[in-house]
Amino acid sequence: MTNDRGTQATVADTPTNEETPQADAGQAALGPTPAPGPVEPRRPAEPPRPPERRPPPRGLVLAVAFLVPCVVIALGVWSMIRAVEKSETAPAPSASEPPTPAAPALAPAPAEQEPAPSLAPGQAPEFIGETDDGEPSSEKRAPPKRYKTVHQAATESCSTESVEGLSKQIIAQARCIKPNAFVPLPPRKNLVVSSNVFPYLELEARNGLVRALDANPTKRMTLNSALRTVAQQYLVSRWGAGKRCGVQLATRPGQSNHEIGTAVDIAEPNQWKAALAAQQFRWLGASDRVHFDYKGAGSRSKSATDVLAFQMLWNRNNPKDPIPADGRYSAATEQRLKKAPPAGFAKGPVCGKSGAKKRP
Ligand SMILES: [Zn+2]
Repeated sequence: MTNDRGTQATVADTPTNEETPQADAGQAALGPTPAPGPVEPRRPAEPPRPPERRPPPRGLVLAVAFLVPCVVIALGVWSMIRAVEKSETAPAPSASEPPTPAAPALAPAPAEQEPAPSLAPGQAPEFIGETDDGEPSSEKRAPPKRYKTVHQAATESCSTESVEGLSKQIIAQARCIKPNAFVPLPPRKNLVVSSNVFPYLELEARNGLVRALDANPTKRMTLNSALRTVAQQYLVSRWGAGKRCGVQLATRPGQSNHEIGTAVDIAEPNQWKAALAAQQFRWLGASDRVHFDYKGAGSRSKSATDVLAFQMLWNRNNPKDPIPADGRYSAATEQRLKKAPPAGFAKGPVCGKSGAKKRP
């Protein structure tokens, strides 16, 4: 379309350009044009100006010509100095300021696109052709800011850290409901956990990962994502829907294996494929090169303990607006999640009988 238009424009322009010389040549051949009748009206002659405009002395002109630029330069330098002084004394940006996205959104690309192979070794190829991932890497995260709701955090932040308080409550409540659902990863010398990662996995998946690590003590594993709560998944899915924060595509909340602790994202997928396959972790493939799903025994229980934990926390803090505590990511659940406080509820997780009690 653009090319067609360009071509048409060129064609349309050509005769116009050629008309003028042809017309001039024709006129030249006709000889001098006879004197036209009425001369084209011109601007009426201006009244004679008063003759007192004497040129100013040359020295004065030179002085002004030299001084004016000097004054302009001096003013510019002065204002720059003032600006620097102001910025040095200005306080840090307040928390009420709209946040700058930590990672600029990538240009939209089809999800099927092959990942670019030009990544440096050790660089996490997050966000490229992802199917359910997209947490911005820890290096890019902005300082924590306070948001009123999870929805606001999804709209204004680009880091799952913005819902950290609520996520910690969800994990703690989920561990009360089902202790083996989210088991902490033990420290290992060859395991590097990125700072924005919750290092929990479902028990069997966790044991399999630890076995892979211990079988390869000289190989380093960088974990860029493990457990992701429903609040975090809501953020990532919103970013994926809007192609924001570097996320191209993301699974809906309640449907990601990261939420049930059976998925990990590893910065060095090629080095760990064989070792993880031996522990029943399946590499997802080129569509999400960093992602491995645990397919062993523990992966069969697909209960969304994180969703149930959120529902219980919501009901405990909103007794007049209860929702079914069934572990399903329903429309009612999403509506409450959007309104939930990113820093966490006033009433936190409860273990024991009251913690496991389903309401209403
Ligand atoms: Zn993943």
